[in-house]
Amino acid sequence: MPFESLTGRLNQAFKNITGRGKLTEKNMNDMLKEVRMSLLEADVNYNVVKDFISNIKVKALGTEVMNSLNPGQMVVKIVHDEIVALLGTSEEAIRYREHGITTVMMVGLQGTGKTTAAAKIANVMVKKQNRKPLLVACDVVRPAAIEQLKTLGDSIGVEVFTLGVETKALETAQKGYAYALENGYDTVLFDTAGRLHIDEELMQELADIKAAIHPDEILLTVDAMTGQDIVNVAQSFHELLDVSGLVLTKLDGDARGGGILSVRAITQVPVKFVGLGEKIDDLDIFYPQRMADRILGMGDIMTLVEQAQEKMDLEAGEKSAKRMMSGQFTLEDMLEQFRQIKRMGSLGGMMKLIPGMGQIASQMNEAKTENEMKHMEAIILSMTLEERRDPSILRASRKNRIAKGAGVKVVEVNQMLNKYEKMKQMMKQVSAMAKGGKMPNMGA
Ligand code: GDP
Repeated sequence: MPFESLTGRLNQAFKNITGRGKLTEKNMNDMLKEVRMSLLEADVNYNVVKDFISNIKVKALGTEVMNSLNPGQMVVKIVHDEIVALLGTSEEAIRYREHGITTVMMVGLQGTGKTTAAAKIANVMVKKQNRKPLLVACDVVRPAAIEQLKTLGDSIGVEVFTLGVETKALETAQKGYAYALENGYDTVLFDTAGRLHIDEELMQELADIKAAIHPDEILLTVDAMTGQDIVNVAQSFHELLDVSGLVLTKLDGDARGGGILSVRAITQVPVKFVGLGEKIDDLDIFYPQRMADRILGMGDIMTLVEQAQEKMDLEAGEKSAKRMMSGQFTLEDMLEQFRQIKRMGSLGGMMKLIPGMGQIASQMNEAKTENEMKHMEAIILSMTLEERRDPSILRASRKNRIAKGAGVKVVEVNQMLNKYEKMKQMMKQVSAMAKGGKMPNMGA
């Protein structure tokens, strides 16, 4: 997962100042040095880092911050807001036309995941936005691109228009649009050709298609795994085509996460979607606030709630989220969390979304964590209701009984209780921040 080491390092940097009552220029500078290093190590563009740090400095050294009740937390909040500013302050959706057909042209280098993204986006349009999209296969260069699009289209029930590889891309685009008009489609996605590198022929082809169909959106797919190079590629495409949005693919494979922090800042083109895997559902609408929360290791409660609502019992999800947000958190809630995680699939990914569990998850491998979770679950299940609601009553004799019942050692019972306390602390912090309006997106 992206940002693992960045999150760890940033948290380390913050630790040194959040605990202090007073903020001095010295400990502030030390922290900023740490932040700077962690961003550079995460492969964020040098100029972006430079501006980022100087913005924080200006804001953090203001008297209001220095004299505030908890200056350390204020600084963390400033860093959070600056990361949001880097990523784009608000969600950028596809702009649909009120009347007529909305046209979306997909562009990008070969292998970046353009064809996959076209189908993933069409899937979102159908499932979540009540649209009727047509996919038009204009990639007549990459062998098998058309077949791939057809297979993907079939799997999501979206029609694919193609005239084969013998027809020029421009003609396919035009005829595809006419076909959509005749057949009552409200959205058309054009999958265009890519190359391994930017070349003139490709750019001319794309410019011609653009001139002919006047797309409402030009979405550029960029591969997060290419690191710094992503910025150059994005700039070249943007200069020529005036791109309206980015689709950042393969974020699942990008351990450092620098690309996503640089590309928007340099090109000023908003990220609209992120690709998180090879499967058709592995695409998220991009929410800058949530991404910033995740980078800072705050846990992504909103995403958790949404996934919970989509994939499981809605009521249970809402109830547990409400309790989390209100700062209450008992062992019963923890048990419920484990059950939800199990229902939702990938453990590692889900754990990271729960405040306080991110670090725990990243310290363990998934199989081990899964096993550990089973133990923790068994321990809680061996407790009485009273004990689950108030574990402070647990003395040695009760712990012995519980350990026996769960088939574990007493030390594991203690470890589980420690983890619970950690999670509870985190929940409290998150809820306090949300209530204090410090993280405006969290309570919404
Ligand atoms: P195109 O040449 O740009 O059309 O690229 P494709 O859509 O064929 O994708 C190239 C490869 O990347 C394929 O194997 C895809 O399955 C894979 N891919 C696309 N998006 C993602 C993503 O978000 N995560 C991962 N892990 N793989 C992806």
